[in-house]
Amino acid sequence: AKENGRNGYRFFEAAMDEAQNDRRRLELELREAVHANAFEVHYQPQIDVTTGRATGYEALVRWRHPVRGLVSPAAFIPLAEETGLIVNLGAFVLEHACREAGTWPSELRVAVNISPVQLRRSGLVERVRDVLEASGLAPERLEIEVTESVLMDDDDAIATLHSLQGLGVRVALDDFGTGYSSLGYLRRFPFDRIKIDRAFVSGRADAHATIILRTIVDLGRRLGIPVTAEGVETPAELELVRRIGCSEAQGYLVGRPSPHPQPVRPDLLARVP
Ligand code: C2E
Ligand code: CA
Ligand code: CA
Ligand code: CA
Repeated sequence: AKENGRNGYRFFEAAMDEAQNDRRRLELELREAVHANAFEVHYQPQIDVTTGRATGYEALVRWRHPVRGLVSPAAFIPLAEETGLIVNLGAFVLEHACREAGTWPSELRVAVNISPVQLRRSGLVERVRDVLEASGLAPERLEIEVTESVLMDDDDAIATLHSLQGLGVRVALDDFGTGYSSLGYLRRFPFDRIKIDRAFVSGRADAHATIILRTIVDLGRRLGIPVTAEGVETPAELELVRRIGCSEAQGYLVGRPSPHPQPVRPDLLARVP
């Protein structure tokens, strides 16, 4: 047994080394990728649930990796944040999104995810203003999505969000319901939109998820903040979020993220039960 323990320990050490090597390799690759601009931005539609028409598209970044193909942001955003690479990567996404949206019909907005690291860096407001100016996009057509972790005890972050709103840019609270004290953040900052995390929407017909969903939508209505349901995958889910009063919906049923924004099918609402 002693022998086993010893080997187990060595095995553990080896596994740790390997994990560290993997991380170092990934960091190196990511650094090169940011340098070489090996990223794509995909766009996923959002609709008004009463008309079924597109209201805008969310920009979602992908890494074009030579071996692994298109890598999902979940696999590299955390590392990009830890290493600060998110600042340049985020600037690229913002520019791409504003330039792209500048070519869309003027009723469509574009949503861009902003990491807490970007928000804490000084200069974000100036950067956004410059990018808007260069792209000619009306500020009202840009929506910045932040998660509540951004706001944790951070008055500077809140001041930055106020400045962005001062430019005319909209600010959405993303992944609502997944954090610790979402309600407190609604008091601390006047968000223009709440996005309900797909955990409460997709693949869950269970009563508890639906009650939470209803409560969030009701809260949004009382606060006068429109609510978008994320992760709408089936006609039944679209029907549910529409019935309980969400303003907008996003999800695979409405459209998948794609490099060129796809129009929303005009008969989408007709398929709803
Ligand atoms: P998010 O902001 O919550 O974005 C929505 C995610 O849900 C996207 O994953 C989207 O592809 C996925 N999704 C949309 N509809 C459905 C659906 O019906 N079912 C399911 N199962 N999933 C759906 P993606 O593109 O892999 O992005 C993951 C996360 O990475 C994003 O979550 C966001 O937090 C982050 N991210 C993506 N792009 C950026 C970026 O440019 N900057 C920053 N800071 N973060 C980003
Ligand atoms: Ca988002
Ligand atoms: Ca989200
Ligand atoms: Ca998320």
